[in-house]
Amino acid sequence: MSQEEDRWVRRSGKRIFAPTTGYRVCTRCIMDTSDPEIVFDENGVCNHCHDYERRLAAEVYPGIKGKQQLAKAVAQIKRDGAGKKYDCILGLSGGVDSTYVAYVTKQLGLRPLAVHLDNGWNSEISVRNIENIVTILGIDLHTEVLDWEEFRRLQVAFLRASTPDSEIPTDHAIIATLYKLAADHDIRWIMDGSNIVTEIMVPATWSHGHSDFGYIKHLNDTFGGAELKTYPHYDYYDYMVRFPHIQRIQRFPLLNYIDFNKMEAMEIMKRELKWTPYGGKHYESIYTRFYQGYILPKKFGFDKRRSHLSCLVANGRITRDEALAEIQKPALSEEMEREDRVFVAKKLGLSDAEFDEIMNAERKTFWDYPSSERNLPGTETYKKYITASQYHSGEWTRMTVARLNSRLISMRSLHVRALQRMRRIHINPMEAVTSFGRFAKRTTANTGSSLLRNAMKLTIPLIRPVGNFARSTMSPEQFARFKRFAQKMYAGGRVEPAPSSPEMKEPV
Ligand SMILES: [Zn+2]
Repeated sequence: MSQEEDRWVRRSGKRIFAPTTGYRVCTRCIMDTSDPEIVFDENGVCNHCHDYERRLAAEVYPGIKGKQQLAKAVAQIKRDGAGKKYDCILGLSGGVDSTYVAYVTKQLGLRPLAVHLDNGWNSEISVRNIENIVTILGIDLHTEVLDWEEFRRLQVAFLRASTPDSEIPTDHAIIATLYKLAADHDIRWIMDGSNIVTEIMVPATWSHGHSDFGYIKHLNDTFGGAELKTYPHYDYYDYMVRFPHIQRIQRFPLLNYIDFNKMEAMEIMKRELKWTPYGGKHYESIYTRFYQGYILPKKFGFDKRRSHLSCLVANGRITRDEALAEIQKPALSEEMEREDRVFVAKKLGLSDAEFDEIMNAERKTFWDYPSSERNLPGTETYKKYITASQYHSGEWTRMTVARLNSRLISMRSLHVRALQRMRRIHINPMEAVTSFGRFAKRTTANTGSSLLRNAMKLTIPLIRPVGNFARSTMSPEQFARFKRFAQKMYAGGRVEPAPSSPEMKEPV
């Protein structure tokens, strides 16, 4: 890539300008140009800092407000789960976030079903941690064991595809399993461990396509060699329509509603749940540890610690200098790096040479392959999904009701406005109605009337009030002029006021 070319990267499938030439780091956090799409404002503050603040204000409810919102949500979850074995479901990896979600869920008096995905990479500590957690908290645990041969091929396929998305097969399977079990047990709520406080700053370029089975399937079919048969998955229809609207399963980001302090959470977990730390975020899985600590930084230049540390800086848990010092340390010790590399390559069935080939292959991105996200939007199928989700979510009904309602309101105000106007020009509404009745009777009797005459007749009930009004506000000369004009006009319309109709009177 030439230097000029390097300044252009893909964002959402389009090439956009992003100044990636020259190293630059945010002045507030430690995110840097290893995110090719990073942009800095005039003070050198990056888009992740701005995103973080925006989402923090919109989605995180700490303090009293959070307590109230949480109490409301918990009451709803309990109502929805009444008479059922479980009222919510949660994914349990054994890591800090998911363990703390399990702990808080239990503290709130909910009855969760915990789900653990065994993709074959659990570290011994994580297995022990999970056992301790469910035993001490008294939670039922469902362990979903993936077909190892199939999953191994899928992981190798992702590595061969050379995109930075190799954690997606695991993430996708967890979500699919959670929704499937929720539906099986008629559970309405998923307690979600993802949270803005520690996770939001991961750039989209570092990993993309978590919900995209089209992408996963394509990579598997191209680089994996055998069909996916048992791998838990879902597609865009499930994601947009079936899960949220037909099965009505909702995700609740629990950690956004409490004052989530990771250090404190870890202390509580160590003390009360016999939980042992892993020495790194998401290092409960050996593959994750090696992927995030070796493959991602060495091959792609992405160090996930950078975004995790930036989050800690953004919410004031550590200083920027501390984060900068921390990121200088190697993610894995040399010894662990060597051990993990041998272990991972062997487990995946890759020879040393094959592994080197993967590490040296040209880097690709999500956008280099077919996927649902790339192929679906704008198509008829996609429009159908959108319509279906609007229909099922009741949005269509809400829109119709809102339309009718606004029409009703304008009608109501029309009648109020009419009454106000009548009062202003001294019309007694009751009298007007009676006059109109008389007029209607005459009009129906006189079927030969011209349109103009009918229109003129419509105003007959107004003659007296208008006359009275004119007389009270005009000078005698003006009134005489007005009266002459009115008489001429009515004569032109050939309307003879009926004997019973009110007549204009001479001014006093
Ligand atoms: Zn920043």
